[in-house]
Amino acid sequence: MFILSEDSQRTQGRDAQSSNIMAGKAVAESVRTTLGPRGMDKMLVDSSGEVVITNDGATILNEMDIEHPAAQMLVEVADSQEEEVGDGTTTAAVIAGNLLGEAEDLIEQDVHATTIVEGYHEAAEIALEAIAEQVNEGEVDDEILKQVAESSMTGKGTGGLTAESLAETVVEAIRHVETDEGVERENVAVHTQVGASSNATELVPGIVIDEEAAHDAMPSEVEDASIAVLDVELGVRTGEIDAEYAIDSIDQLNQAIDAEESEVQGYAETLAESGADVVFTTDDVDDRISSFLAGEGVLVFDNIGNSDARQIVSATGASRVGALDDLEESDFGAADRVRTKNYGDDDLAFVEGGAAAEAVTVFVRGGTEHVVDELERAIGDALDVVSTALASGEVVPGAGATEIAIADKVRSAAAGIEGRKQLAVTAFADALDVVPRTLAGNTGQDPIDALVDLRAAHESEGRAGLITDGEDVTIDDPFEYGVVDPADVKREAIESATEAATMIVRIDDVIAAE
Ligand code: ADP
Ligand code: MG
Repeated sequence: MFILSEDSQRTQGRDAQSSNIMAGKAVAESVRTTLGPRGMDKMLVDSSGEVVITNDGATILNEMDIEHPAAQMLVEVADSQEEEVGDGTTTAAVIAGNLLGEAEDLIEQDVHATTIVEGYHEAAEIALEAIAEQVNEGEVDDEILKQVAESSMTGKGTGGLTAESLAETVVEAIRHVETDEGVERENVAVHTQVGASSNATELVPGIVIDEEAAHDAMPSEVEDASIAVLDVELGVRTGEIDAEYAIDSIDQLNQAIDAEESEVQGYAETLAESGADVVFTTDDVDDRISSFLAGEGVLVFDNIGNSDARQIVSATGASRVGALDDLEESDFGAADRVRTKNYGDDDLAFVEGGAAAEAVTVFVRGGTEHVVDELERAIGDALDVVSTALASGEVVPGAGATEIAIADKVRSAAAGIEGRKQLAVTAFADALDVVPRTLAGNTGQDPIDALVDLRAAHESEGRAGLITDGEDVTIDDPFEYGVVDPADVKREAIESATEAATMIVRIDDVIAAE
């Protein structure tokens, strides 16, 4: 009996499992070489020829246009990792891929999928305990935060800038938005502008938006600004211009022109008298009004984007006003300074200081589009990890040390687990080894030798990672070399990788509509 349409495709049992597992593994494999400080970059070219060069796991997977449904689940692992903690996307994808690879071997040995799933979940619990044991003892101070930022950026294309100086900027930015309630990460923006060396990257105490003054004669800088944010068209309303005048004498024509002139003049004067010296509006501004306000020393921006308007409102404390008659002084926002600056084809407005300085912008410069784009991703990750580390106050050693510790603890615990589940728990530990093994491989070392040395060092010293410094690779305590990751990044990687791998393993029937 056929219950499905003839066009639908169905794969069942082992076939379904192995096809899904293969797809998941392939995804993990595709990002493996980018892991760590010596990871390589990928160049992705889309169908329209647009090029992205990146080292960022989530970016690669999203640009790859992956279709296989099981492979898509690994992309989701990277996405949720990015969303929750902002870093560790490659790690999570690579762990998930290896959990799948280990599961495949177990299935070959006739271990049932349910047993694998149970074993993996149990192992993940033990892994979280192992992470807790690796957490730093002291306080997470600026020094450690800088290390967290730097560890997340090493290996990324940071142009001519050292990860060290960028790390300092990142920590300063996050400290700037720290309040009693916690870190207001959303108050840190990153704005990129091509055209200078990346050394010109700086921290702006306020916001930067892509807007240009409505008139050339307007001041390029206003100090102590009272800022009005309007959703008002400043001019003769479009409807009235289109209306037909039944004009049959020169007098009537002159009258109509006069009426229009005085309406325009009225708007201009109302605004000038309101006391606002910087005006942002989401609508048009008549040239005559711009010109008049320029004469009054008012800086006006017209047709600004809705999201820019929201940013200005939130940074300066202004209230958006929908009708000119409603504009009152209490609606004004404030900033120490509003200035405009031209960068070749682009004009930018800076709203800085005073109330506006509750927000802060990392103003990223770089020679080419590719450099600033990758710099923006690296800084974005660094901002995320620093705020994650600051929020929880917990960091763990990087460079594979935490993964080795997890694998060790899980492997020991496996001995006490009965039945075939023990095999699954051991397999989980083996899958975790992939991180140090990959770090070693990406630095040109023999992965097996490195793993053996690392395990031995972990046995005797307790904390041991594979630290890369330029061309040198040392096995030692990563804390002493400033290679640290937020504990939450590792937790999230374990949880999301386990979840995706177990979900894929459990599927034994794929029914695809045409
Ligand atoms: P992910 O997308 O998972 O964050 P990365 O390419 O950023 O991938 O690599 C992160 C890994 O690199 C982490 O395990 C981190 O501890 C490690 N790492 C960072 N700096 C160093 C270093 N100097 N030596 C060795 N490992 C490092
Ligand atoms: Mg990273």
